[in-house]
Amino acid sequence: MDAPHLVDGRFFPPLSSAGQPARLRVAPGEGAPMVSAALADGTALDALAVDDVQAGDTLHFAGGGSFIADRPLPPEVTALFQSPMRRRIARLEAFSLPKAVLLGLALILCVAGVRAALPAAARAVALAVPERLERTIGDRSYATLARMGLAASEIPEERRQTLARRAADLAGAARLTRRPEIVFHRAPGFGANAMALPGGPIVVTDALVELLGSDDAVLAVLAHEMAHVERRHSLQQVLAVAGAAAMASVVLGVDDSLLEELSATVVNVWSFKNSRDFEKEADLVGMDILRAGGMDPALLADAIAALTTQACARLAGDARARCLSEAGAAETGWLSTHPGAKDRLGYLREALGR
Ligand SMILES: [Zn+2]
Repeated sequence: MDAPHLVDGRFFPPLSSAGQPARLRVAPGEGAPMVSAALADGTALDALAVDDVQAGDTLHFAGGGSFIADRPLPPEVTALFQSPMRRRIARLEAFSLPKAVLLGLALILCVAGVRAALPAAARAVALAVPERLERTIGDRSYATLARMGLAASEIPEERRQTLARRAADLAGAARLTRRPEIVFHRAPGFGANAMALPGGPIVVTDALVELLGSDDAVLAVLAHEMAHVERRHSLQQVLAVAGAAAMASVVLGVDDSLLEELSATVVNVWSFKNSRDFEKEADLVGMDILRAGGMDPALLADAIAALTTQACARLAGDARARCLSEAGAAETGWLSTHPGAKDRLGYLREALGR
């Protein structure tokens, strides 16, 4: 039998960025190689199943956890992981993005029931995506939005800082795992709006702050957006739209063109009406966040009502009365990317018990 290979590096437990020095032992096995690890703290891990090898130095284990070698893995080690299946996956990864998207669409069209399964798959994949990768997609989406027309905010700096600080306090009180990062912009094309990008940046337009008037009302909208970030809604929507092939690629290793595509999809998906389930969840979690921070949860319903009144204001007579009773059909802004305000106010007031 061949001698095992010893590889020094760092071991990272599942969902942790705190690693520790470790020595990996890789021995040829029947089928998959046999992998074990000796950690610096004395822990011994046996029978590690390797899911994937990335970038020539990183091993991802089934069930989470990873190992990053101090130097690139020697070819004889990587060769051990090159099973026929892995070679097939490598070919899939090498697909051009249009082909990957076409494959995703073909899967959606051909396999009965896949459509219904996609959101569940998107959720599973989104929750498995490392935070750093989610954040990269968010940062690139932000860059795309910026190119589409985000100008410097004209809200006084002091007010912006107060809003950002109070949002951070809310996140702390609600024990959110993500700290909010609020970026204010003057952006006439987006109306009175707020948008949570994958991994955390929340873009808020000056028009929203001006229209809502009070900081409390703005924080109510921010609480809703923080709930989107916390639950990774944007990433889930993007993955569901990008399809099965993109999800497979995210699991198996993301390349630059896929990152570009996913980031562009964030922006495209945003202009659709968002998923009603996600919005309802963000509304209800948003109210919990307000409550946790000692604020009145009714502020969210009030903010939606205020935006509705504004959206209907330019109408006259019967049309205006209809608009108000239907609770607004806004053409741009935060309301337009969300389910009907009548629907939202209904369940929000029910949750408030009034
Ligand atoms: Zn929303």
